[in-house]
Amino acid sequence: MSLFSAVEMAPRDPILGLNEQFAADPNPNKVNLGVGVYFDDDGKLPLLECVQQAEKAMMEKPSARGYLPIDGIAAYDNAVKGLVFGSASEPVVSGRVATVQALGGTGGLKIGADFLKRLSPGAKVLISDPSWENHRALFTNAGFHVETYAYYDADRRGVNFDAMLASLNAAPVGTIVVLHACCHNPTGYDITSAQWDQVVAVVKTRGLTAFLDMAYQGFGHGIQEDGAVIQKFVAAGLTFFVSTSFSKSFSLYGERVGALSVLCQDKDEAARVLSQLKIMIRTNYSNPPTHGGAVVAAVLNTPQLRALWEQELAGMRARIKVMRQKLVDGLKAAGVQQDMSFMTQQIGMFSYSGLSKDQMVRLRNEFGVYGTDTGRICVAALNSKNIDYVCQAIAKVV
Ligand code: PLP
Repeated sequence: MSLFSAVEMAPRDPILGLNEQFAADPNPNKVNLGVGVYFDDDGKLPLLECVQQAEKAMMEKPSARGYLPIDGIAAYDNAVKGLVFGSASEPVVSGRVATVQALGGTGGLKIGADFLKRLSPGAKVLISDPSWENHRALFTNAGFHVETYAYYDADRRGVNFDAMLASLNAAPVGTIVVLHACCHNPTGYDITSAQWDQVVAVVKTRGLTAFLDMAYQGFGHGIQEDGAVIQKFVAAGLTFFVSTSFSKSFSLYGERVGALSVLCQDKDEAARVLSQLKIMIRTNYSNPPTHGGAVVAAVLNTPQLRALWEQELAGMRARIKVMRQKLVDGLKAAGVQQDMSFMTQQIGMFSYSGLSKDQMVRLRNEFGVYGTDTGRICVAALNSKNIDYVCQAIAKVV
């Protein structure tokens, strides 16, 4: 009898499980569209030129690795504030944003969730239906009761906005609402600018707490365009949370670079909030790691590197759009009768393809094309070499 005798086997993470199955698949034509990772046209994970140049400069002037401040590198936190709110924006200039460096976007969400649990222990959390699965797990593990607000409408192939608004309108005062700032994962459907105005109005009148998850800033329409929703919440005079991830936009997945920003009412409030966020960090992992944050800070704060990053990010964004169009055209050419042009309406890395679980299983077992059972495929993993094979495989299962 050991302390661990009664420990149950936890269910496997569905995406990681898919990866293991993919790795073991002997099919030479196999394609992994399950993961949320951007690959270049050669099917490789890019190492951005701006990152290489920043690292080269750092190597030329090696520095010792002391502990970082609990809230991370100041130049990094300031760059995040600029990116999220605008460096000359009123919230940044007036000092009412509390930003901390975090371990990826996940880390930003977790610090925010832990802080919110102390602040509003009885609040309910609403995530979109469906959402990135870790939203539920993360807020549940932080001690919250998590429910969903209506979002995707499979029949209409889009967002059921009326139902979404109705869910938000029915939420009790103080409910925490997790919103995808852009490039909704998993569906690929975002709401329009006018619909965001309505969401902001409901959040305000109902007294809800918005938590914006911005994991794909720059992957949709552009850095400014994707961040536009933040301006709407600011203009409404709301206080809210924003998590940032640079995993995708810098292709720095393993460096764990992200942030949490909390917009407060004034500078004094921001100082108090920051002090509490630091406790969350200190008692979890003490302080963040140096390398990823230093690289991102160097790129964002050096005009030439920043311009290069914006160019490389635009390149990734454009390639995804091209692959969406090729997918739609390729499916038609492969004989798919159904109009698949909805895939070009979707934005970001993913497409909810509308394929059923059975069809996804067949794609996997018969053709080695891996997507999730929900029908989600990662368009950012398609390339000019695998697109025809994928289109033909899909044509055979629909
Ligand atoms: N939020 C959403 C919606 C995501 O899709 C992801 C990553 O897939 C994250 C957060 C987490 O990002 P990170 O890998 O930086 O923790």
